[in-house]
Amino acid sequence: MNIELNMILTWPEWSRPCGFSWTSIQERRMTMEQAQATSDRCMRCNRILSNPHSIARSLGPVCYKKSGGGVFDADLQADEKEWARREELLKAGGEIDLGVNWDYPDPGNMIRGYSMRVSVRFKDGAFEAYGCLYKPGKEEEVVFARGQDLKVIYREAIAAGPTATAQAYQARKQAFRQAKRAARRAS
Ligand SMILES: [Zn+2]
Repeated sequence: MNIELNMILTWPEWSRPCGFSWTSIQERRMTMEQAQATSDRCMRCNRILSNPHSIARSLGPVCYKKSGGGVFDADLQADEKEWARREELLKAGGEIDLGVNWDYPDPGNMIRGYSMRVSVRFKDGAFEAYGCLYKPGKEEEVVFARGQDLKVIYREAIAAGPTATAQAYQARKQAFRQAKRAARRAS
């Protein structure tokens, strides 16, 4: 497995100007080990998680579904012939789309985040799991994972949609709470 730059979404740090932070798989593994020792919380509802699968994706089963998760999970069960077909398609310049209606956080906005399409492509010699954000008047790309192992990149692409959607939900809730506090102070 040759991961050049395998990045995944993590809990956003709103203090940063872009509103988003990234961490490597390595860092996430460390977090997972710590999490297994101390348990971890669901990034959507903040409940404590105990199931290792839930901890790995930082989402409980209910919140995973509520965030649109599960639709593409079966794609990973494909046989080798199908994986070879996908590699061929991507290397020929094709893309595989994994949903167009994901949310992506817009910190401070309590109404909604951005819409995002998640896709897999082959670019500059490596597979990429990336999102296309539909921002007002423009589109913006965000790369979630990049590497030589299509199965790894595909798994990250499947995780990206529900993860970002759950984070967008949290971001809206947080913005709503802040607005409520501000209104209380003003009155
Ligand atoms: Zn939850």
